[in-house]
Amino acid sequence: MTTTAEAVAEPQSKLRYDGPPADMAGISQPHTVNPSQDVIRKFTHDYCQRYVMPVAAEMDRRPEPQQFPFEYFKRLAQAGIVAYPFGCEYGGSGGSALDYNSMMEVVSYYDPATALLAAVSELAIHPIAHFGNEEQKKRYIPPAARGESVPAFALTEPEAGSDASNQQTTAKADGDYYIVNGEKTFIMHGDVADLYVLFCKIDDGSGRSERISTIIVDDVKQPGLTRKTLEHKMGMKAATTGRIWFKDVKVPRANLLGEKGKGFRYAMITLDSARVGVAAQGVGLAWRAMDESIKWAKTRQAFGQPIAKLQAIQWMIADISLRLESARCLLYKASLMLDAGEKVSLQAAQAKLYATEAANFCIDRAMQIHAGYGYIGEFGLIEKLYRDQRIMEIYEGTSEVQRLVIANSLLR
Ligand SMILES: Cc1cc2nc3c(=O)[nH]c(=O)nc-3n(C[C@H](O)[C@H](O)[C@H](O)COP(=O)(O)OP(=O)(O)OC[C@H]3O[C@@H](n4cnc5c(N)ncnc54)[C@H](O)[C@@H]3O)c2cc1C
Repeated sequence: MTTTAEAVAEPQSKLRYDGPPADMAGISQPHTVNPSQDVIRKFTHDYCQRYVMPVAAEMDRRPEPQQFPFEYFKRLAQAGIVAYPFGCEYGGSGGSALDYNSMMEVVSYYDPATALLAAVSELAIHPIAHFGNEEQKKRYIPPAARGESVPAFALTEPEAGSDASNQQTTAKADGDYYIVNGEKTFIMHGDVADLYVLFCKIDDGSGRSERISTIIVDDVKQPGLTRKTLEHKMGMKAATTGRIWFKDVKVPRANLLGEKGKGFRYAMITLDSARVGVAAQGVGLAWRAMDESIKWAKTRQAFGQPIAKLQAIQWMIADISLRLESARCLLYKASLMLDAGEKVSLQAAQAKLYATEAANFCIDRAMQIHAGYGYIGEFGLIEKLYRDQRIMEIYEGTSEVQRLVIANSLLR
């Protein structure tokens, strides 16, 4: 039998799936901009129905502190999902942004936390892939592609959230090393990471004003590096979040990424791309909210008829579909612009802002349509999706920050 993966043409050929085709009953079909999206979507539905759907609810309810799901993550990587957008020469598939975000949309349809689990590696590897030297790319990208190394993107600090430029972490030059001191918080996979793409201020003793730089911390076993898993996160529980302390941590000066003083620019370019990925998470979640609402409305009876016959319910479903489709248009537009190599700060902010707020709207209406059966988690996944959604409006720049980016782009 030809599996979906075998049927996928280059550059997607590194995708691996060995199970039966997905059951597509009750799944609405999104608009296709490029036929490659259909192939990617089919592969991802197949994979998620076999490996994600059966465990998503259970992973959401594991006891605290949540443990990073190493085996599950490795399986995602072996299927080719984690490294789909990485370059082929480094173990990825070299997939387009449109295809990758279509893939993330489908993964998020089944479990937004699994989409996040994969997306964190793309977020952390992006600066290495775009600004690292060849040796750094060869050393760090292939193990991340195989899921054998867990990378993390460490920008946020206790006093540097939305104001990311207010970095307090320092790297003082000392011979062939930097000595790093500081603290990072809210870092996805920061509790278990094998390497940190770390943003900090370098003090090389030259007396010039310190601008933000990026260094790779790959020796995470040093006694000065301590970390913990942040507990009682509202949603997205399969992917863990950490806090990290650096006390005189030694990092070879060769681990400087790109040019000294360009770190803030690297972070912003990376976030432009990653925000489109968060939009994909939002679209996937909104899509699921719509499909679940339609199914429920057709079967749930009230006053002797399915609630789908009630105009109040019909209007909610109409409003959900409108938000979903509008978000999708912005997502695909920003993805196509990324693929064309265009600057996407404005379009990424628009897509992230709209799609994540649309996801909020859609899951809220889905909750209303499901009512008690939505609120109580043992009856289905609406309660979980409601919790998973909320972070999308916060991480990789809050909604307020996206509005600032949009306004600044337009008023320039
Ligand atoms: C689960 C989770 C995962 C995360 N993952 C990562 C990660 O992997 N790597 C990483 O580096 N960071 C990560 N973050 C950090 C995340 O990006 C920040 O939480 C976010 O940027 C907001 O920063 P803050 O929480 O400090 O809020 P603050 O910056 O303190 O903001 C508080 C409020 O003020 C508003 N505000 C602030 N400044 C302005 C302004 N100029 N105009 C209008 N409103 C403003 C904000 O929008 C918000 O409503 C994660 C956070 C969470 C919770």
